[in-house]
Amino acid sequence: MRRTKIVATLGPACDNLDVMTQLLQAGVDVVRVNLSHGEWDLHQKRIRLARSAAQQLGKEIGVMLDTQGPEVRLGPLQKTLHLEIDDTFYIGREGNESDRILTVTWPGLFGMLQTGQTLWIDDGRLVVEVRSVTNDLITLAAKNRGDVDSQKKVSLPGYGWPLDPLTQKDRDAIVRGLTEEGIDFVALSFVRTAEDIFAVRRFLEEQQISTFLMAKIENPLGMDHLDEILQVSDGVMVARGDLGVELPEEEVPELQKTIIRQANLMGRPVVTATQMLESMVDQERPTRAEATDVANAIWDGTDAVMLSAETAVGKHPVESVAMMAKIAERADAHPEYAHRIKFTTDRIADAVSRASAEIAAELHARAILTVTESGYTARMVSRCKPSVPVVAISPHQTTLRQLTLYWGVEGLAMNSAIHTTDMVRQAIEVAREAMVVEEGDLVVVTAGVPHGTPGTTNLVRVEMITDPVLEGQGLGVNVGSVTGTVVVINSQSVLPDSPFVAVVDGYDQSWLPILDQASAIVASNAGWTSDIAVYALSRKIPAVVGVQDATQKLKSGQIVTVDPVRGVIYLGKTQV
Ligand code: PGA
Ligand code: MN
Repeated sequence: MRRTKIVATLGPACDNLDVMTQLLQAGVDVVRVNLSHGEWDLHQKRIRLARSAAQQLGKEIGVMLDTQGPEVRLGPLQKTLHLEIDDTFYIGREGNESDRILTVTWPGLFGMLQTGQTLWIDDGRLVVEVRSVTNDLITLAAKNRGDVDSQKKVSLPGYGWPLDPLTQKDRDAIVRGLTEEGIDFVALSFVRTAEDIFAVRRFLEEQQISTFLMAKIENPLGMDHLDEILQVSDGVMVARGDLGVELPEEEVPELQKTIIRQANLMGRPVVTATQMLESMVDQERPTRAEATDVANAIWDGTDAVMLSAETAVGKHPVESVAMMAKIAERADAHPEYAHRIKFTTDRIADAVSRASAEIAAELHARAILTVTESGYTARMVSRCKPSVPVVAISPHQTTLRQLTLYWGVEGLAMNSAIHTTDMVRQAIEVAREAMVVEEGDLVVVTAGVPHGTPGTTNLVRVEMITDPVLEGQGLGVNVGSVTGTVVVINSQSVLPDSPFVAVVDGYDQSWLPILDQASAIVASNAGWTSDIAVYALSRKIPAVVGVQDATQKLKSGQIVTVDPVRGVIYLGKTQV
């Protein structure tokens, strides 16, 4: 079973319902639209297409809006400009464009570039040197052979442009996305400091909207302020594409590990992005290096892996998702390679969520059920990377949709309001109805009580999902349950070869040789001081007495499980 989530970037390659449906079926959990490319109307269409495909499939997906942020791009070009080494071209003011005079999205460039600086165009595909700068013309010379196209990114490696964290286009899209399209995550590009996140939070507050903010770490400033950024954001992205532009490529692997580890420690979901299966843009199969990269990101501890050009403009969008899902599933099956965070804590929520993961593993539970309003409890449990599925039950659609990004978590809608008093029972009922757990399963339930206060994960309970068939008075102390074949004791009783549970009504000396071999005794119409109870106690045979009509209700040959402590008899083999 796959635990790692998949984010897929939408683009022209998935602009029809058929492909979109196949993408979701192949395993996409979250779709991303990137404001660096295209206008809002187009993104809105894609979001709606994804939502309707999801609805038809009855699947909950998350929608991520990725901002343009403080980046600078070239303006539109009439035609591709081809450059040989040392060829010169220009950046000029709008209105003066020609074949060799290009424009940029930020006029501030004229005031700040200096002769001798090196710029990267299109993520370093073209490296150029600044030859001279005047008030309205920047002269550039190519340092390698290459092409320049419309809207390509212009960067000054190692330096963040002094721009607002959001462009006007970003602001408009965020407002419309949140109010009209119900988007679930906003990914902020080129986050430099915690102040960038605050600025966005201030903007959201002014608009009286709120959402999940994911900080994209993609330059040295963001790296330098990683901890303070993580403190104030809801999640983080290892934006390897731009990281490898702004910093040397050879640093990217260690930066990836640092960001993931820090995010895991602080309980922030983390996405590893860019070029994961890049060769699948053209090819039908990934390189071995790419397959290994996806698995290693998972073993580093990422919550989600992301596809960019592969799904947005690639030739094989569906195959890319299917391949990523396969690699992820395989990596998830080998947790021994995974780096699991170890943390000491004096926080109740940390200790309780870790305990629930440990208990679930130890008892081979079917699932961990969490009841969650904000998703906090689910997040805390997911962070411990439990070996069993985490089923997060929430009455809020927003929460359920944000869970799509959390490692190992499946969301489950709960229709009614949650009553604190019987929360555990309700959670089990919802999970049973959805058939994610069934009779005979052991589950670990964790939640925060009183319910509705985020951050109070303080309850863990272990529950057997089963309906007892019979109840009585258990005589055992500190003993486990016994499973065996029922033998109703009478003159013709036939003993099986396997362990058996003797079911008696009354007490007869002639039965003793049989009773002596029983794994457990169930007795009807008898109390603590009855002969049969005294006998069972003296022979240390687990027993339940006072079970009404036991000899009629239980049939020889049935398999039952007896809990001699609680005095309960279950049908079939169960764990208590
Ligand atoms: P982008 O961000 O795809 O929006 O550029 C991811 C990255 O830089 O890796
Ligand atoms: Mn980027």
